Amino acid sequence: MGAFLDKPKTDKQNKGGMGNGLRYGLCSMQGWRVEMEDAHTAVIGLPYGLKDWSFFAVFDGHAGAKVSAFCAEQLLEHIIANEDFRGKLDVTDGTEVQPSLEDVKKGIKTGFLKLDEMMRTMPEMVSGEDKSGSTAVCCIVSPQHIFFANCGDSRAVLCRNGKCSFATRDHKPVNPEEKERIQNAGGSVMIQRVNGSLAVSRALGDFEYKNVEGKGPCEQLVSPEPEIFIEDRSPEDQFLVLACDGIWDVMTNEELCAFVESRMKITDSLEQISNSVVDTCLYKGSRDNMSIVVVSFEGAPKVSDVAVKKEQELDAKIETKIRELLLKESPENQDLPYIMHMLSTELDDSFPPGGGLAAKKGFIESTYYKLRPNDEQDDEGP
Ligand code: MN
Repeated sequence: MGAFLDKPKTDKQNKGGMGNGLRYGLCSMQGWRVEMEDAHTAVIGLPYGLKDWSFFAVFDGHAGAKVSAFCAEQLLEHIIANEDFRGKLDVTDGTEVQPSLEDVKKGIKTGFLKLDEMMRTMPEMVSGEDKSGSTAVCCIVSPQHIFFANCGDSRAVLCRNGKCSFATRDHKPVNPEEKERIQNAGGSVMIQRVNGSLAVSRALGDFEYKNVEGKGPCEQLVSPEPEIFIEDRSPEDQFLVLACDGIWDVMTNEELCAFVESRMKITDSLEQISNSVVDTCLYKGSRDNMSIVVVSFEGAPKVSDVAVKKEQELDAKIETKIRELLLKESPENQDLPYIMHMLSTELDDSFPPGGGLAAKKGFIESTYYKLRPNDEQDDEGP
């Protein structure tokens, strides 16, 4: 699980789209890990008469990528096609009846459990050859509501009126409720892990933790049960962010909301914004796979000339400062870490909110290598 590369893989996978008054952009990047085990889903306009509805999800796999990849492909269908979700939908006279809040809630839970049950019967799971598991966090956006469903330690947040107004809860083995379930199933929590090994207490897959006799699927050492939250939509809703712990390990909910909000005033490309978040997290020291989906509502901040100009001024200030330092400092003080240090103290309050110096590290690096006088003993570079 914990193997790392010599240098991070920084190729990014991007996707974006719009519809139903929403726009989304996503980015995923392998980073320092030897394997890429994250997966994601983004669908605007759902089948079965739910064209006004949309679905977004992030899956963070462990011990392999099988379960996360399968969830990304199948979770949505399992949720919206099951009996509980369809509920009392009456389509006989051609008019579509929207599922009730209760139906959606029940349907989401049923979808998670059925998908888990189904994966359990896959030959490589039965044989134990594949031991992979995955967290899942998803948001279903209907015309009136946002349904959040979380299983594990990926997280979704809602930014409303300039503030992080809602966040899903992470399922960690040390949480009292989780610990109680684990102990009731005959397990223990050591070094904050299930039986000293698994760092999340809820996940899809992980079938070696789901074999306790006499206990139901939601009473096992690891539970596939999603925790579901419903928010009424409001004109003050700005955006949603869904991300795995590779992002949340190095940024708080408030930092990420502030950062995304500030970037929305500089570009309307949500893919570009997702890329900046991922780069910033890499520079902040994240060693994990990273995945992020940003979904904007009509109330999201718009690109502003003032903000764009301010960002250009910051870039110009950085460039000027680097030029000065390169001229003024003796050669032994011209290395990149020293330049970074000087910039961080001198330009401290000009960096993007929530991102700080890390949000500008890429720009600083490239400017530094552009301006630095060419000398032979070029060390590693960026
Ligand atoms: Mn992770």
